[in-house]
Amino acid sequence: MTILDDARRLAATGPVCDACLGRVFADRSFGLTNAERGRSLRVAVALDEDADFDPVDTTDCWVCEGRCAEFDDWAERAVESVADVAFDTYQVGTRTPPLIEENERLLREEIGADPDAGEPFKMEFNREVGKRIGRLTDAEVDFDRPHVQFVLDVEDDRVEATVNSAFVYGRYRKLERDIPQTEWPCRECDGSGRQGREPCDHCDGTGYLYERSVEQLVAPVVEDVMDGVDALFHGAGREDVDARMLDTGRPFVVEVKEPRRRHVDVDRLESDINAFADGAVEVTGLRLATYEMVERVKGLDASKTYRAAVEFDDPVDADALAAALDELDGATIEQYTPRRVDHRRANLTRTREVYGTAGELDDPRHATVEIHGAGGLYVKELVSGDEGRTEPSLAGLLGVGARVTALDVLAVEGEDEPFEDEDYFL
Ligand SMILES: [Zn+2]
Ligand SMILES: [Zn+2]
Repeated sequence: MTILDDARRLAATGPVCDACLGRVFADRSFGLTNAERGRSLRVAVALDEDADFDPVDTTDCWVCEGRCAEFDDWAERAVESVADVAFDTYQVGTRTPPLIEENERLLREEIGADPDAGEPFKMEFNREVGKRIGRLTDAEVDFDRPHVQFVLDVEDDRVEATVNSAFVYGRYRKLERDIPQTEWPCRECDGSGRQGREPCDHCDGTGYLYERSVEQLVAPVVEDVMDGVDALFHGAGREDVDARMLDTGRPFVVEVKEPRRRHVDVDRLESDINAFADGAVEVTGLRLATYEMVERVKGLDASKTYRAAVEFDDPVDADALAAALDELDGATIEQYTPRRVDHRRANLTRTREVYGTAGELDDPRHATVEIHGAGGLYVKELVSGDEGRTEPSLAGLLGVGARVTALDVLAVEGEDEPFEDEDYFL
């Protein structure tokens, strides 16, 4: 059997459009569309038989039921469905009606071909409509993580468009204490702000234990500028609510859901956020980032530098403090889960390294201490000893009770590489 014999038999099954005919032979002769393959075969058969050429109207095709005449229409509908959304990349998927899949199988059966010979309807639809969307929008196909994902539901005759999130990376400084990183709903009322008909008295009816959070001061501005429907805040760890975050700040990513704008001016966004946060929080170094930056920010091992105001139970002399800090410099600390940490967390002993220490007395009962340590080091306990649960500790080495009265985080930096890797920025 030659390809012409096959084509002749396929064409004899009833009206089969050029694309459906050509698709059976889609693995032959690259550089042709299936419609070109089908039409060429039909022409060749006519010439071979010296018969009059008899074109088929695509809308009469019994295999695709005319759908192969609708590529332009579907592309226009897809573009229309995201008319107010800015996007650079997209991907097209198609839900093929079961009847068309069955027709394709029957067609191939006619010449004893594999049920999946050539190319399925779905693949042609994805590609042909996809090409047209590209021409209408100047956007490019991205199979990995496109800005917009179209699903052409041919069965239900509708286009579904999913607009994927946009991401903004930056670092925040928290200049005031008692601001949690993320919003903190009131436990008494589950964030509703109400107890039955009355306002919740635990949170004064606000629904939050703290009226502000870094998230609430930052994310809504990004959401607004990108014109999205929601925003999530992803931080590279978090400091205690009562600790400030100063100096170089802490890396974060704001994820904006269903953004209509992606190419925003980050310098302007930065000033908008800083104006909104009004001195409680500041952001710096904003960059448009990739989806992968979320995992990087949440997962990259990071060391922390702290500055602690320390109070001693008894007077301490400067030499003793210097010697104790020297002892902690480079030490490996064993820490049993602190008493203040959520008791639902498993109790275990962890070891963490102290990379560097510095500090001096403000007066015999007070000192300011700086500690650079591995991620996960409990600094308040490193100072107090936590009743022997942390060893060694500043209090233990001095033989004097000691506690942190105020804590600032000065730096959060990747252990082995910086957070700011160009591969993660747009
Ligand atoms: Zn067809
Ligand atoms: Zn409440």
